[in-house]
Amino acid sequence: RDGQAQQDLFGDAEAGERKKPATVWRLFGLAKEETCVLLLATVALFVGSLATVAVPKLAGNLIDVCINFSRQGDERDAKAKLDLMLYEILGILAVGGVANGIRAWLFNGAAERVMCRLRSRLFKSLIGQEIGFFDRIRTGELMNRLSEDTRLMKSAGTTSVSIAIRSAVVAIFGIVLMFMTSPLLSALTLCSLPIILVAFRTYSLLAKKYTREGLTASAEASTVAEECFGSIRTVRSFAKEQAACERYDKAINRTLSYGLKSARASGVFFGFNFTVATGAIVCVLWYGARQVVEGKLTAGELSSFVIYAMYVGANVGSIANVVSSLIQAVGASERVFELLDRLPTLPPAGSQKPRGSPAGGDLELRDVWFAYPARPDINVLKGINLHIQPGRKVALVGPSGGGKSTIVSLVERFYDPQAGAVYLDGVPLPAIHHQFLHQQISIVSQEPVLFADTIFYNIAFGMRRGEDSVSLAQVEEAAKVANAHDFICSFPQGYRTSVGERGVRLSGGQKQRVAIARAILTQPRVLLLDEATSALDAESEALVQEALDRIARDRTVLVIAHRLSTVQSASEVAVISDGTIAERGTHTELLAKGGVYALLVRRQLTAGAPSASTS
Ligand code: ADP
Repeated sequence: RDGQAQQDLFGDAEAGERKKPATVWRLFGLAKEETCVLLLATVALFVGSLATVAVPKLAGNLIDVCINFSRQGDERDAKAKLDLMLYEILGILAVGGVANGIRAWLFNGAAERVMCRLRSRLFKSLIGQEIGFFDRIRTGELMNRLSEDTRLMKSAGTTSVSIAIRSAVVAIFGIVLMFMTSPLLSALTLCSLPIILVAFRTYSLLAKKYTREGLTASAEASTVAEECFGSIRTVRSFAKEQAACERYDKAINRTLSYGLKSARASGVFFGFNFTVATGAIVCVLWYGARQVVEGKLTAGELSSFVIYAMYVGANVGSIANVVSSLIQAVGASERVFELLDRLPTLPPAGSQKPRGSPAGGDLELRDVWFAYPARPDINVLKGINLHIQPGRKVALVGPSGGGKSTIVSLVERFYDPQAGAVYLDGVPLPAIHHQFLHQQISIVSQEPVLFADTIFYNIAFGMRRGEDSVSLAQVEEAAKVANAHDFICSFPQGYRTSVGERGVRLSGGQKQRVAIARAILTQPRVLLLDEATSALDAESEALVQEALDRIARDRTVLVIAHRLSTVQSASEVAVISDGTIAERGTHTELLAKGGVYALLVRRQLTAGAPSASTS
C-alpha cells in the first residue's frame, strides 16, 4: 500500500525504501528540538489564558456593583469597590499582556526554527538523490516542496498548538464558568455545538482535498515559471513571451480554481458557523433577560455569562481555524516526508581510494549494459567493453543517440549499469569513496554550467575541502593552464568578477576555459571531455583546444570527439553506434578499414566541417 502511495505521488515506481509513513504525530514531532522553549511558552500561555478568562468575571462584578448602588445608594462604598476592581483588572491585564507577548514570541520563534531545520533536512535529502530521480522529477516541483509545503508545515507543532491550547483553555474555563453562573442557560447555549461540529467535519474533509490538489497545481505553476526564466533566451529568441504568459496563467488558474473552491467552502462554513453561534447567543440573551426579570439571575451574572459564551464561541472558532491549517499541513507533509525519507536507489559509495599510476588512472568498462531509469525497457548500452590504460586517450565517435554521453555518465557514476561494471584502477566505481572518485575524475562538458558567483568561486568549486581552502595562487595557476588567466585579468574585478546566472556574462569560449580550470584544480587522473559542437570563434577555439591538449597530457582521457585533430591524436577511437562498439582502432586503421568510421569522416570532410561525429 505504501509502495502504491509512492507511485501515486511521484510516479516513482523505482523509489528506494522509505522509513516511516507520514502522520500527524510526525508533523508534531518536527518541533521535538524545541521542547524546552515550548514548555516555557506553554506556561506563559496558561498565565495569559487565565488572565483572559478572569476579565469577564470582574466585568460582571463591576456591573453588579452599579446595580446594587442604584438600589441602595451608598456612593462612597460603591466608588471604593469600583476603584479596587479597576486595580484588579489592570493588574490582571498587565500580567496577561506580558504573558501573551512571551507566548507569541517563543512559539513563533520556534516555528521559524522548525521550518528552517525542515528545509535544511529536505534539501540534504534531495541533493543526495540519484541522478535518475532528477531525470524524473521537475525542479519547479522540488522548489515548491522546499518553500511552499514547508511553510505550510512550519506552524503545525508550534504556533498552531499554542493557539489550540490557548483556545481550548479559554473555552473550557469559559464553559465551566458558564455552568457555574447558570447551568440552564449553559445547556441551552451548548445545544448549538453539535451542529457546528458536524459542519466543521464536512468542511475539513473538503479543505484537505483542495489543499492537496492546490499544492500540486501550484507546483506545476512553479515548474512553468522556472522553465521559462531558466530558458529566457530561447523564449525571447522565438518571441514566445505571450505564449509563456498564457502557459503560466493556465497553470496558475488551476491553482486559483482550488483556492476559490476552498474559499467558497470556508465562506459557507464560517457564515453558517456565525449564524448558528450568534443565533444561540441571541436566544440565550432573550431567555437570560427573562430570568433577570424573574429575579433568578442578576444583570451582572447575565453580562458575564454572555461574554463567556462569546469567548467560548470565538475560541471554538479559532480551534476550527487551527484544525483547518493543521489539515493543510498534513496535506503538505505527506509529500515532504516522502521526499525526506526517500533513500537514493543508487547504492551508497564505498570507502576505497585506489591509487594507481600518477600518470593517470586505469579506466575500464567491462561488459556494461545499461538502461535509463526513466526508460527501463530500452537498453542504451549493450555490452560495452572499453579499457583505457593510464595516460592514454580514447576518443568516442558515432551517430547522435548512439550512447557516447551515456558512457561518460556511467564513468561519472551518475548511474550504475544494470550488468557489468566500470572500474578505476581495477576497483568497481561503487566501491570507491564518493569525494575521492570525483576528485580523480573530472569532466569538461560541451556546455559547461557555471554558478551565479565569482570566477574564483567557480574555479575553486571542485576542491574537496571547499572553496575557502583554496588560495588565489592555486586558482590562478589552474586558470593559466586553462588559458583563462589573461581574459580574467582583463576584467576590472579580476577573479572576483561575477559570472551571472549559469555564467551568462561570459562568452562561450570563456566559460569553457573557466570550466577547464575548474576541472584540473583537483589534479584529476582521469579526464572526461565532451568537445563543444557549438562553434566558438577561431581564436577562442584555438585557446580552448590548446588548454584541453595541455591538460590532457599525462592523464587518462575519454573524449567525445567532434574534431578530426582529436581523433587523430587518440590512442584509440571507438565508434559507438546503437549502444555497442561498432568499430575500434586508431584513426588510420579505421580509415583503412573503410567502414562506419571512414563514412563518418568522409561525410564530415565533404561537409567541410572539422567534426568526426554527427551529434
Ligand atoms: P550520444 O551521446 O551518443 O548522442 P546519448 O548517450 O546521449 O547519445 O543517448 C543515448 C540514448 O539514451 C538516446 O536514445 C537518448 O534518447 C537516451 N537518453 C539519454 N539521456 C537519457 C535520460 N536521462 N533518460 C532517458 N533516456 C536518455
